[in-house]
Amino acid sequence: VETKLPKVGTTIFTVMSQLAMEHKAVNLGQGFPDFPVPDLLVEALDRAMRDGHNQYAPMTGIPALRNAIAHKTERVYGWRPNADTEVTVTSGATEAIFDAIHAVVHAGEEVIVLDPCYDCYEPAIELAGARAVHVPLDPVTFAPDWQRVRDAITPRTRMLMINSPHNPSGAMLSAADMQEVAAILHGTNIFLLSDEVYEHIVFDGARHESALRYPELRERAFIISSFGKTYHCTGWKVGYCIAPPALSAEFRKVHQYNVFCTFAPAQHAFAAMIERAPEHYEELGAFYQAKRDRFAAQLRETRLAPLPVPGGYFQLVDYSAVSDLDDLAFCRWLTTEHGVAAIPLSPFYESPPAGQRLARLCFAKNDATLDAALARLRTL
Ligand code: PMP
Ligand code: GLN
Repeated sequence: VETKLPKVGTTIFTVMSQLAMEHKAVNLGQGFPDFPVPDLLVEALDRAMRDGHNQYAPMTGIPALRNAIAHKTERVYGWRPNADTEVTVTSGATEAIFDAIHAVVHAGEEVIVLDPCYDCYEPAIELAGARAVHVPLDPVTFAPDWQRVRDAITPRTRMLMINSPHNPSGAMLSAADMQEVAAILHGTNIFLLSDEVYEHIVFDGARHESALRYPELRERAFIISSFGKTYHCTGWKVGYCIAPPALSAEFRKVHQYNVFCTFAPAQHAFAAMIERAPEHYEELGAFYQAKRDRFAAQLRETRLAPLPVPGGYFQLVDYSAVSDLDDLAFCRWLTTEHGVAAIPLSPFYESPPAGQRLARLCFAKNDATLDAALARLRTL
């Protein structure tokens, strides 16, 4: 067949997880927690299924969950979206990203993405017949250069995609960054897609600068999150999109014919969890900060140099003291020869910076898992 996605192969996450399995490596590659989901959530899921919530949910999400999301948004960000017209429950953030792009981006248009960026962005843009325009982040700090973003705008630009806390680097956008985004988009027809799946995993007392806090941004934005990250259940694939009524209406047209609705029992479970245990998301930053600090302290005893991690659950390490291999080769070698799977950064780029020697390690793991990895990394 004549492929529609010539650049796409198997994702690096799948490739590295398979390699980890074959070599019995400690898998710090693909981002997923190896600890259990909260009891309350499992119990609520079980109850939802026993109570018979096993048929199609409403297309936009069950009212109890949309209300819980609206309430939580108000508590955390000081602004309450309309649960009926502005909140849509999706089958993971991945579905929401696909739907948002397909809702507003036409064939021949352009979407600006900031490299390195998460791997599902560009294929969704290409399937819409549009083109991803890659603007690099700073190779050391992963901060955006907003002048380069301005320079990338053309009459065909339809959307700007941002991601904070950032995968793979953990970098976070500041209030000044958000004001820059608002200034850049002011007076244009460019929509914003703000990928905020790690919104609650922020460290050192920092505030997550959600686009939800900025009226000029949220009036043109699709703001997307994922319960997979917040509740340690990446395999449940439930997320949501908050967007103004006119944008949500278009978004829902795509969602309706993409999946129609999301797994009903989990929607009941998340509604209960969000309302009954707000401390879970409030304490998530502290929970992961302890893991980050413990992991980074022990990495400093190895020849891998940990970079600062402001948010998210990935630790970048500079391996140039260990190896001169490129990052794909290094991550394979680390997995097959040293039994620790990591993710190279180059698949997150259109053109990776020359000579970059960085690998991504996921620290959303039990201490025992991290210790097993560290014991192997100390031998490098
Ligand atoms: N965006 C980013 C930045 C991510 O890291 C991920 C998950 N790794 C997603 C989106 C997709 O989230 P979900 O699993 O809910 O589809
Ligand atoms: N988002 C996860 C990561 O960045 C991977 C998800 C996937 O395997 N598609 O590691």
